[in-house]
Amino acid sequence: MATRAAAPALARALAGIVGDGHVTTVGADHVADITEHPPGRADVVVHPGTTDEVRAVLALARQRGLPVTPVVAGYNVAGIAIPRAGGIVLDLKRLDRIVALDHDTMTVVVEPGVTFAQLKAHLDAEAPELAYTYPFAPPFTSVMANALLDGLNNLSLPHGAMGQWITGVEAVLADGTVVRTGSGAVVDGWFGRAPLPDLTGLFVSTQGTTGVVTRAGLQLVPAAPHRQRWFAFAYDLEAAYAAMRALARTGSYDDVGCMSWPSAKLLFGATRGLVRSDDEPLAFLFIDITGASGDELAARERLARDLLRRAGIESVFEVADLLRLMPHLAKLAELPTTLDFLLDFPGGGLAWVGSYGPGGAWVEGAAAGMATLERHGFPPFLVARPMAGGHYYVLRFVACFDKGDDREVERVRACMGELADLVLDHGYVPYKASADAAERILARAHPGFAELLTRVRDALDPERRMNPGRWPGT
Ligand SMILES: Cc1cc2nc3c(=O)[nH]c(=O)nc-3n(C[C@H](O)[C@H](O)[C@H](O)COP(=O)(O)OP(=O)(O)OC[C@H]3O[C@@H](n4cnc5c(N)ncnc54)[C@H](O)[C@@H]3O)c2cc1C
Repeated sequence: MATRAAAPALARALAGIVGDGHVTTVGADHVADITEHPPGRADVVVHPGTTDEVRAVLALARQRGLPVTPVVAGYNVAGIAIPRAGGIVLDLKRLDRIVALDHDTMTVVVEPGVTFAQLKAHLDAEAPELAYTYPFAPPFTSVMANALLDGLNNLSLPHGAMGQWITGVEAVLADGTVVRTGSGAVVDGWFGRAPLPDLTGLFVSTQGTTGVVTRAGLQLVPAAPHRQRWFAFAYDLEAAYAAMRALARTGSYDDVGCMSWPSAKLLFGATRGLVRSDDEPLAFLFIDITGASGDELAARERLARDLLRRAGIESVFEVADLLRLMPHLAKLAELPTTLDFLLDFPGGGLAWVGSYGPGGAWVEGAAAGMATLERHGFPPFLVARPMAGGHYYVLRFVACFDKGDDREVERVRACMGELADLVLDHGYVPYKASADAAERILARAHPGFAELLTRVRDALDPERRMNPGRWPGT
């Protein structure tokens, strides 16, 4: 590790690679995010502009034995872009090119700094017949980071977690070697990962520990000409699950999301002392329905109404109608979007445990997680959706908190630790695992999983300089 005194010399050497103005030591000694995870310290923050510069920075880091922590926006909500062993923060925002857009294979190749807002604008202008899939993450966050982290977006019901959308990558390894995976490793075009040995997974959910991805191929889907979004109210978890399950299993719907009542209260401006009155729904579902023709859309709408009724859900509203009455809901209606009620919560803290697991344990897991939040003094804020055609579901438990209140931060930490164990107890696995959640995952994993991960890391980063502190113990 460099010493603080060596930082100016390191910054000069890095400036020789990326140019003056793209290296700074200012702010490097206090790198924080919006979560309960403590701030970290680096020696220098560097902003490369090309793959070649990333390669040269990593070669220099290797020579000097320096840790490297990649980051784009730093909004992962798990503390996993906070440097834990000093060294270099590799800020990838300047790598923001959309390198290729292939209308024929329906793929796009992006650099890490490409944001959701940027990709949406590009597709709207250059390929209105195609679409990507968007999270509730802020529009300024990285499309690639979300995919590398196996995130969940608004087409994850038909197409699964975001790692599945990656058709191949270019990455720079810890020693500066540039590698490629997927079809783009062999031919000119990242149409898919098959039929080669699937090495792309080495970079998915590994949180920057296996290398810095400088390009990723991502699949697009045809943009549906006819679309409708509904909100529906569920008064208990059983009805919410029955509706999600029934809609998912038809294979006919783009998205079925579920949020519990505190999200609605926050959306409408409440912050503290949230209380649900007896006549208010427990959760609202948002249901995206599309069709290649008006008739297809209408048929899917009829089927959805029938399935919702059978699940005991009668209150169904077209978003367009609701928006006229409640303009606040626009934040949830068009993606990408800024959920300012989460980002600007007084005190600025946002934490969650999100996980993927079996539908059979969803109701019990959701109830137990909501009760855990309440026991720790937080409203029972749940986010969920069926994924990959209903093969698995999301359980995400959210806490907004005051980062300036040490006791509240401690409460959040204890609560998130308990929630990570709780979801694992219900057969769910945390995604975007914080260091703490990763430890809990590994403690329960088959020893052969930890062994394989250790060997992969030994092969790609024997000195453990890449985003140190992630997947601890491997
Ligand atoms: C209000 C809010 C709502 C959100 N909603 C969702 C949601 O609905 N679905 C969802 O999936 N996520 C959601 N997120 C999480 C997150 O914002 C997204 O996944 C986002 O795209 C991450 O991008 P980032 O630029 O913040 O990544 P960062 O935090 O900068 O990086 C994420 C991780 O990837 C590593 N990394 C970054 N770039 C590279 C690279 N090129 N090579 C190797 N490693 C790299 C970093 O070291 C870090 O470990 C939400 C976040 C917020 C604040």
